[in-house]
Amino acid sequence: MKVLDELKTIVGSGNWTDDAGELEPNLREWRDMWVGRTPLMVSPDSTEKVAAVVRACNESRTAIVPQGGNTGLCGGAIPDNSGEQILLSLSKMNRVRSISPNDHSISVDAGCTLASIQSAASDADRFFPLSLAAEGSCQIGGNLSTNAGGINVLRYGTARSLALGLEVVLPDGSIWNGLRSLRKDTSGYDLKQFFIGAEGTLGVITAANLRLFPTIKNSQTALIAINSPSAAVDMYATLRENLGDQVQAFELIPHLAMKFVQEHIPSCSIPGIEPSEWYVLMESSDLGNDEMLLRELSSQIESGLATDAVLAKNRSESASLWRIRHSISEAQKREGASLKHDVAVPIGSVGSFIRKAVAAVEEYLPGIRPVPFGHIGDGNIHFNLSQPEELQPETFYQQREALASIVYDIVVDHAGTISAEHGIGQAKKEHLLHYRGDLEVGLMRAIKDTLDPNNIMNPGKLL
Ligand SMILES: Cc1cc2nc3c(=O)[nH]c(=O)nc-3n(C[C@H](O)[C@H](O)[C@H](O)COP(=O)(O)OP(=O)(O)OC[C@H]3O[C@@H](n4cnc5c(N)ncnc54)[C@H](O)[C@@H]3O)c2cc1C
Repeated sequence: MKVLDELKTIVGSGNWTDDAGELEPNLREWRDMWVGRTPLMVSPDSTEKVAAVVRACNESRTAIVPQGGNTGLCGGAIPDNSGEQILLSLSKMNRVRSISPNDHSISVDAGCTLASIQSAASDADRFFPLSLAAEGSCQIGGNLSTNAGGINVLRYGTARSLALGLEVVLPDGSIWNGLRSLRKDTSGYDLKQFFIGAEGTLGVITAANLRLFPTIKNSQTALIAINSPSAAVDMYATLRENLGDQVQAFELIPHLAMKFVQEHIPSCSIPGIEPSEWYVLMESSDLGNDEMLLRELSSQIESGLATDAVLAKNRSESASLWRIRHSISEAQKREGASLKHDVAVPIGSVGSFIRKAVAAVEEYLPGIRPVPFGHIGDGNIHFNLSQPEELQPETFYQQREALASIVYDIVVDHAGTISAEHGIGQAKKEHLLHYRGDLEVGLMRAIKDTLDPNNIMNPGKLL
């Protein structure tokens, strides 16, 4: 491929590699579910270089796969097996461009890790609320491209609602400077929204202006034992009524997830709480002190929705509780093969969805171990399935499509979506076509064809 030398010259020495050993981690999805090939990974360190790379690829009709932290869980950042797709890493674009505490906004390169943005905001006595277990590695460009959610969505929204403006290199190599910091703007189509959640199929996000919020003065974290997911939904409704937007996170954790964490993650300790099939980890903020939440929790126990509760006494206890939640994916990975379905249904349907989906997958594959956990306050459940203990991982993975169809049919019956966080990538392309219908997918294709007529941006993903 002639273009390879041109790309190396554009990014300069030290900013590209074709070494198989160096490339290996970038060609592998987090769970090893997808492994790809590439002749070259370029890591440009400026928007202009990204633009020159994309222009050269467009002229030579060479496919580009943008990659952030490579923590995505649907194969979106992994090239295919042709060995002809260029990997474009954003990792060298990692500067905080500016921060404006009075505007409550920050301007960052797309390759900044999520944790580095949280920390820059905190240094300026501001809060950037996007938070997820992969925050030490995932990048804001990847977060925006997947419209990432995480634990604080119910109060602050997804990545989409945190973006004020974007800078994007378009598939022809031109640079769209939409780096505005406006809270209101009704001048035509909101173009940035096309690129958010586009999984790199419409262009390369090179920078973002993001919303910041006042620092949280105090917060309360509680682990609550509950009877069922439906009880969690009822409790969430009552707490929102009584505490309003002070309820910041509300996460469902099944007993099996606790068990996996206890067995596989030695740094996590499970607090003394009455054993239960289900738990909720909740966080409230700026209530002043713990009294109000304690009163609420007592009345939840009296009403029978909750059976026990533990309130963190300090930051370190709160961090230990959150470590349990953030370790679930890692613990489940160590437990063996797992299949993920990051689905969402209307909040009120969460209980019914989990009940029906658990029964259906257990009937299809006896011994399967469902681990439905996650963001109950957003109706977004990670309906994860661990392999039956006796089964070989390969045999379990052969059931991937059949199990996905079982779960997604029930999701759609509950007026839900087949992807609420991780995106479509390679994993759910066929399902998107099936469940979204011709008109909606046709509109998506029309946007893709208009912006990327040569289909160089992450081909084979999403559509
Ligand atoms: C342990 C664990 C926990 C997780 N928890 C959550 C969670 O709670 N909520 C959640 O939403 N997700 C979660 N994820 C999934 C993942 O972290 C998110 O999807 C994240 O937003 C991906 O960011 P990334 O930088 O790693 O992107 P990558 O994986 O590198 O890429 C993801 C997609 O975005 C594209 N892309 C990346 N950067 C750019 C760019 N600059 N311009 C254009 N396209 C780009 C890629 O081509 C790919 O299609 C979790 C993952 C792990 C491993």
